Amino acid sequence: MHPHLKEDLSAFDAILDRARSMAVDYLSSLDSRPAAASQPVDLPAHIALPEGGEGAQAVLQRFERDYSPLLSGSPGSRYFGFVTGGGTPASLAADWLVSAYDQNTQRNGDTCAATIELQAVDMLRQLLGWPAEWTGVCVTGATMANYVGMALARQWIGHEHGRDVAADGLHGMPATAVFSGSAHSSTLKALSMAGLGRNAIRQVPQLRGREALDVDALEDALREHGDRPSIVVASAGTVNTVDFDDLAAIARLKQRYRFWLHVDAAFGGVAAASPRRRALMAGIEAADSVTVDAHKWLNVPYDCAVVFTAHLPLQVEVFQNHSAYLPPPEPLPDHYLHLTPENSRRFRALPLWMGLLAYGREGYAEVVERNCAAARHLGELIAADARFRLAAPVRLNVVCFAPVGADANAIANLQRALHRDGTAYMSPSVLNGEPILRAAICNWRTTDADIDRTFAALQRLLSN
Ligand SMILES: *Cc1c(COP(=O)(O)O)cnc(C)c1O
Repeated sequence: MHPHLKEDLSAFDAILDRARSMAVDYLSSLDSRPAAASQPVDLPAHIALPEGGEGAQAVLQRFERDYSPLLSGSPGSRYFGFVTGGGTPASLAADWLVSAYDQNTQRNGDTCAATIELQAVDMLRQLLGWPAEWTGVCVTGATMANYVGMALARQWIGHEHGRDVAADGLHGMPATAVFSGSAHSSTLKALSMAGLGRNAIRQVPQLRGREALDVDALEDALREHGDRPSIVVASAGTVNTVDFDDLAAIARLKQRYRFWLHVDAAFGGVAAASPRRRALMAGIEAADSVTVDAHKWLNVPYDCAVVFTAHLPLQVEVFQNHSAYLPPPEPLPDHYLHLTPENSRRFRALPLWMGLLAYGREGYAEVVERNCAAARHLGELIAADARFRLAAPVRLNVVCFAPVGADANAIANLQRALHRDGTAYMSPSVLNGEPILRAAICNWRTTDADIDRTFAALQRLLSN
């Protein structure tokens, strides 16, 4: 055995203790360290590969000294960029164990890991109040979940044309139309990966002043499209204003038009954990496939999402994986090898499973409501200061705003100043063609005190 491997094998405990103390140091610094690493992170892209190596202890030490100060504070309570969750204690502990256990969750057989995934996905389904007939699998993120949704839709459309696309490909098939009012950019990527093409998107007009699609306009588009099958990608939570398409009205159109309904509920879907928000997603039972991220509002560490579907057999047609030493594919919900884009896969369900068991329905509902209350509070502070304006009503957990009279440059400067200041981090965005700042509040730790600190920093930076 190589000397460093041998030495590390006998020092396994000490090495993990060291990692543990690094983790604790990092987590306890979240409140005081900058919300995001300062830009630009000035590190070389090339370092020499050592001949003999340094051993784990030395590498941990080197990382802690030279690199850990450059990490983002993104699991902290004032990181409001993109749509970013943190990791609850239960999910984080589980995530550590996932690496220690190192299970390959391909299918049920030699480990309980596959059954844990069934339980985790089913508990998530219960949390959100979604149909018991649906099955779901873990993938790396909403982008992959959207990809699985598009691949299933493609297979369904193939059958509508008398074709098995998984077996024979798309060649010679008519182009597919994908109707959507506000598809997330990852849906375009998914369409590219699925061979349907980014240009398959047909933009449906939105309701005035909203990011929700106009269902009458969707019906016109479907009618015009005729009796050819198509795809509708609905949004359950847009990234700027957290707007929801009217799923019940879209579901009713399914009685008259032939389309696959995919719902991107990456983070907005988690609002259903709070019973008072369920109505936002009325009609979702009619969906054919649904995307939910675990690493956003469910506060599971990266990376984990779930894609649900009502069409397990189609999923097997698309993702089945034959080999001499594997059983033939059957439509069983825990034969992940035949259900997901990956073959070998991490025990990704455990952090979700432990989180759901640790905090239950009430815990997740509390995070949703506390985050929505924090967003409302920030909205009120902004509305009460004449130097700022809300760019959209605060619907759920995202706040879009700008300094009054600020041009694109001034907004970019304020965003950069806040980033440098380190009190909080927000992403720049564009709403109705206008540049804005955007705070997405998804972290299980965030309280109104974080909002007060953040707004005080914005006021101070605007005065400078
Ligand atoms: C974040 C997000 C995605 C992409 O999710 P990843 O987890 O980053 O792959 C897709 N759709 C919506 C609505 C999102 O908010």
